[in-house]
Amino acid sequence: MASERDEAAPGLRVHGLSVALGGRPVLRDLSFDVPKGTVTVVVAPSGSGKSTLLRCCNRLLQPDGGTVLLDGADVDGIEACALRRRVGLVGQVPVMLPGTVRDNLAYGLTERDDSGDAALARALAAAGLDASFLDRPADELSGGERARVTLARALTRGPELLLLDEPTAALDAAAAGHVGETLRRLAGDGLGVLAATHDLGFAAAVADRAITLRDGRAVTGTPEEILGGADAERGAERR
Ligand code: ADP
Ligand code: MG
Repeated sequence: MASERDEAAPGLRVHGLSVALGGRPVLRDLSFDVPKGTVTVVVAPSGSGKSTLLRCCNRLLQPDGGTVLLDGADVDGIEACALRRRVGLVGQVPVMLPGTVRDNLAYGLTERDDSGDAALARALAAAGLDASFLDRPADELSGGERARVTLARALTRGPELLLLDEPTAALDAAAAGHVGETLRRLAGDGLGVLAATHDLGFAAAVADRAITLRDGRAVTGTPEEILGGADAERGAERR
């Protein structure tokens, strides 16, 4: 039973989330927390509802039931643009806008934001790219560099939580390791991180907590418990 103190715990709380798509239940009564300063991974097979879950966390999708709380406040009561700055989503496909990396990072920033080169270079550095990338045309970047620019773009908005959808999908092992280190460092600085992945090695390297989805319900545990189970399931599928 959650205590009152828990209710206001800083971070994201998903409570009783249910979503049906195309008349089929995808998420059912899903509940878990992503405290600030931690990395939580959702490890589950393709089609199990990971992207759907992330989209509900910043109101890109309205669930059929349940609530998502940010620092104890229902996200439905937070204006969508403000919410998406506080809860940044790094999508699976690293979409680049025309222009330079600088243009990509500064896009959508308002007068309240620091869009000076120093701030943009800090976001790039956190994502593992040096400041020389600011002047590079975005359409000339490799897949791994694009993935890091999309992460940096989310960071320029000063998020409190980061949602990442398959962050290693476009990366080789070295780049995936770098992104993993970046996420650990961001969590160390107080960010909450929720990453959906089917990359078990990456999950094991970054996770404080792990969740898997079974028939739309969440099973939460330590990375060892959940990833050990995922390994066993993969083995069973092969047999
Ligand atoms: P994952 O990210 O784990 O691969 P998704 O959240 O993308 O899974 O999808 C979960 C399930 O919902 C899948 O079976 C998918 O086919 C289905 N789905 C996703 N979007 C829609 C949609 N717009 N209409 C109907 N079904 C959808
Ligand atoms: Mg997905």
